[in-house]
Formats: sequence, C-alpha cells, structure tokens
Amino acid sequence: MNRSDVQQVADDVFRVDGGIVNWYLLRDGRDLTLVDAGYPGNAGDVESSIRLLGHDPGDVRALLITHAHADHIGAAGPLHARYGTPALCSAAEVPHAHRQFLEQVTPVQVLANAWRPGVLRWAVRAFRLGGTRAIAVPHAEPFPGAGPLDLPGRPLPVPTPGHTRGHSAFLLPAVGVVLTGDGLVTGHPTSWRQGPQLLPGFFDHDRAATAAALAPLAQLDAEVVLPGHGEPWRGPVGDAVATARSERE
Ligand SMILES: [Zn+2]
Repeated sequence: MNRSDVQQVADDVFRVDGGIVNWYLLRDGRDLTLVDAGYPGNAGDVESSIRLLGHDPGDVRALLITHAHADHIGAAGPLHARYGTPALCSAAEVPHAHRQFLEQVTPVQVLANAWRPGVLRWAVRAFRLGGTRAIAVPHAEPFPGAGPLDLPGRPLPVPTPGHTRGHSAFLLPAVGVVLTGDGLVTGHPTSWRQGPQLLPGFFDHDRAATAAALAPLAQLDAEVVLPGHGEPWRGPVGDAVATARSERE
C-alpha cells in the first residue's frame, strides 16, 4: 500500500485502491468513517491506508458495510478486535454478515464461468487474498435508525437489495457523492469494459433485483459515483445508471 493508492475524490472523501476491490474513508477532523473493508488479505492494507492519511485506526468511528461479501468485510474482525471498531449494515444484511446464510458466488460457480475472459486470473487473485475463507462479522449491527448516520460524512444509507438481499449504497449529500458498493460498478477484472455497469450476473444473489435497484440510485442527487470495483466516475448518477442499463448483458 502506497500513498498513491489513497486518492482524494471529493472534500474529505478518499478512495483506496486495494488492487481488485475499493474501500473508502470519510473524514471529519480527526474522525473517520470506513466504508467497506477489503478482502481478509487486505486487513493490513486497510490499516496502512488509514495511517497513510495521517490517522490512527482508532480514529475510525465505524465501519459501514455495503454488503457482507468476503471482499468487503476482510478487516472488520481485526479492526473490532484491536480497536473496538463497530460495524454497521442494513438490518436485512445483518444475518448475512453473521453468516446465518451465505449469498456469495461459490468456487463451483466460479469454475463454471472460468471460460469467460479474466475469470480464472481474477479467481487466483481472489483466492490468494482469502476470498474463499469462511469469515463473518459477528459484531455487525443494523443502522441505528432511518436517515443520515451520525458519523463522519453524514452518510445516508440507500437500500439497493439484489446483489445481496441487504445491499446498501450510501449517499453523501453534502458533497454529491454516492458510494454504490457492488450495486453499480465501473470495472472488474472479469469485465473487458470500463465505465458504469453491473457485475457479471453470476456474482449477484438476485440479478433481477440488482437491476431493479438501479432505479433508486438514478434518483439520487449525486455527481460522483464511487463503486466497490473500478474507478471513480464523474457525472450525474442517473447517466451512470442509464449507461449500465444500456450495456447489460
Ligand atoms: Zn459483492
């Protein structure tokens, strides 16, 4: 992890490029909100990214989880064990974070898609980063109430179920930014294209619901799209949604 992997994308909003997944840091003075937490093998990188910003992991008031796939919760356990960092997600995602069930692509499903360009190479990287490790976030709790969260960035959860049943995006109204998790991405090692798109369908728990959840995103007043995978995208989020819809497989 280098300083160049930590990129300011809006006032007090930082994107961290973890290689094949992103996480984000929202700053308010000394306090931070962490949005998503990389693969298990990224746990050290998450801590490094916080320090590269000149902060201490103890400054993180909470980890917000868009959804509880292994590549978005990797540092949740270590941060909680070392610093007591709480983890919050939608009420619908809590049982998934607790691993009462798993809504994640299986190694068998990945192998069935191994003929697709990029899938095998991605799978090797994901495996090395602990993507198949059985991890959970037993301390995950639901957002405390409706409306914006009382955390750095004042993030407003936006329910976008489909990729997982409790997937959530986060709107940062003050800076016109939306963090879209895996509900809308701009690139992935298994995609040949850059720009707004859905992930390949085999990654979605419910593909039809994932596509339907683009509708609430399109309504948001945001001009910067920060996805779980891929580069930041600048322009009205409604335009990003229109592109993703037109490029659907
Ligand atoms: Zn995912």
